[in-house]
Amino acid sequence: MVKKKQQEKRRKKKLAPLVPPDLERCEAERSAGHTFMTLGGRVGQMVRCDSKPIIVVTEVSPGKDGRRGSMSLCGECLNVLLAQPGAWNFTLRTLARYRKLGPKA
Ligand SMILES: [Zn+2]
Repeated sequence: MVKKKQQEKRRKKKLAPLVPPDLERCEAERSAGHTFMTLGGRVGQMVRCDSKPIIVVTEVSPGKDGRRGSMSLCGECLNVLLAQPGAWNFTLRTLARYRKLGPKA
Protein backbone atom coordinates (compact mmCIF):
# COMPACT_ATOMS: atom_id res chain seq x y z
CA MET A 1 0.00 0.00 0.00
CA VAL A 2 2.64 2.47 1.06
CA LYS A 3 4.82 1.51 -1.87
CA LYS A 4 2.05 2.21 -4.32
CA LYS A 5 1.58 5.66 -2.91
CA GLN A 6 5.27 6.44 -3.27
CA GLN A 7 5.24 5.34 -6.89
CA GLU A 8 2.32 7.58 -7.59
CA LYS A 9 4.11 10.50 -6.04
CA ARG A 10 7.11 9.92 -8.23
CA ARG A 11 4.98 9.67 -11.34
CA LYS A 12 3.29 12.96 -10.60
CA LYS A 13 6.59 14.72 -10.11
CA LYS A 14 7.63 14.05 -13.70
CA LEU A 15 4.91 16.28 -15.11
CA ALA A 16 5.82 19.86 -15.85
CA PRO A 17 4.19 22.24 -13.39
CA LEU A 18 0.95 23.87 -14.40
CA VAL A 19 1.01 27.59 -14.91
CA PRO A 20 -0.12 28.96 -11.56
CA PRO A 21 -3.09 31.29 -11.47
CA ASP A 22 -2.29 35.00 -11.63
CA LEU A 23 -3.04 36.30 -8.16
CA GLU A 24 -2.65 39.95 -9.18
CA ARG A 25 -5.06 40.04 -12.10
CA CYS A 26 -8.32 38.28 -12.96
CA GLU A 27 -7.78 35.73 -15.72
CA ALA A 28 -11.23 35.85 -17.27
CA GLU A 29 -11.78 37.26 -20.74
CA ARG A 30 -14.66 39.39 -21.85
CA SER A 31 -15.81 41.01 -25.06
CA ALA A 32 -14.24 44.41 -25.57
CA GLY A 33 -16.74 47.19 -25.10
CA HIS A 34 -19.47 44.91 -23.83
CA THR A 35 -20.52 43.86 -20.41
CA PHE A 36 -21.17 40.24 -19.69
CA MET A 37 -24.86 40.97 -19.77
CA THR A 38 -24.68 41.50 -23.51
CA LEU A 39 -23.07 38.14 -24.16
CA GLY A 40 -25.04 36.03 -26.52
CA GLY A 41 -22.65 35.73 -29.36
CA ARG A 42 -19.03 36.56 -29.24
CA VAL A 43 -19.12 40.06 -30.53
CA GLY A 44 -15.79 41.67 -31.10
CA GLN A 45 -12.50 40.99 -29.56
CA MET A 46 -12.00 39.24 -26.27
CA VAL A 47 -9.89 41.16 -23.81
CA ARG A 48 -8.62 40.06 -20.50
CA CYS A 49 -10.35 41.44 -17.44
CA ASP A 50 -8.06 43.65 -15.40
CA SER A 51 -9.77 43.60 -12.05
CA LYS A 52 -8.09 42.30 -8.94
CA PRO A 53 -9.01 38.66 -8.36
CA ILE A 54 -10.68 37.58 -5.13
CA ILE A 55 -10.87 33.85 -5.68
CA VAL A 56 -9.16 30.90 -7.37
CA VAL A 57 -11.34 28.35 -9.14
CA THR A 58 -10.05 24.84 -9.82
CA GLU A 59 -11.66 22.31 -12.12
CA VAL A 60 -13.13 19.32 -10.34
CA SER A 61 -12.54 16.92 -13.22
CA PRO A 62 -8.96 16.55 -14.40
CA GLY A 63 -8.21 17.44 -18.01
CA LYS A 64 -6.73 15.17 -20.67
CA ASP A 65 -3.36 15.16 -18.98
CA GLY A 66 -4.90 14.07 -15.70
CA ARG A 67 -4.34 17.44 -14.06
CA ARG A 68 -6.71 20.13 -12.96
CA GLY A 69 -6.39 23.66 -14.18
CA SER A 70 -6.87 26.69 -11.94
CA MET A 71 -7.58 30.32 -12.67
CA SER A 72 -8.12 33.46 -10.66
CA LEU A 73 -11.32 35.50 -10.93
CA CYS A 74 -12.60 38.82 -9.64
CA GLY A 75 -16.04 39.03 -8.02
CA GLU A 76 -17.77 40.14 -11.18
CA CYS A 77 -16.34 37.35 -13.32
CA LEU A 78 -17.07 34.83 -10.59
CA ASN A 79 -20.74 35.82 -10.71
CA VAL A 80 -20.73 35.28 -14.45
CA LEU A 81 -19.13 31.87 -14.04
CA LEU A 82 -21.68 30.87 -11.41
CA ALA A 83 -24.50 31.86 -13.74
CA GLN A 84 -23.31 29.40 -16.40
CA PRO A 85 -24.78 25.92 -16.63
CA GLY A 86 -22.27 23.44 -15.28
CA ALA A 87 -20.65 26.04 -13.08
CA TRP A 88 -20.52 23.62 -10.18
CA ASN A 89 -17.75 21.70 -11.78
CA PHE A 90 -15.31 23.96 -9.95
CA THR A 91 -14.00 24.27 -6.47
CA LEU A 92 -13.48 27.76 -5.08
CA ARG A 93 -10.78 29.02 -2.80
CA THR A 94 -10.34 32.53 -1.57
CA LEU A 95 -7.12 34.21 -2.57
CA ALA A 96 -6.00 34.39 1.03
CA ARG A 97 -6.45 30.66 1.44
CA TYR A 98 -4.69 29.92 -1.84
CA ARG A 99 -1.73 32.09 -0.86
CA LYS A 100 -1.47 30.44 2.51
CA LEU A 101 -1.89 26.81 1.49
CA GLY A 102 -0.70 26.75 -2.11
CA PRO A 103 -2.16 24.96 -5.11
CA LYS A 104 -2.22 21.49 -3.56
CA ALA A 105 -4.45 22.29 -0.61
ZN1 LIG B 1 -12.62 39.65 -13.80
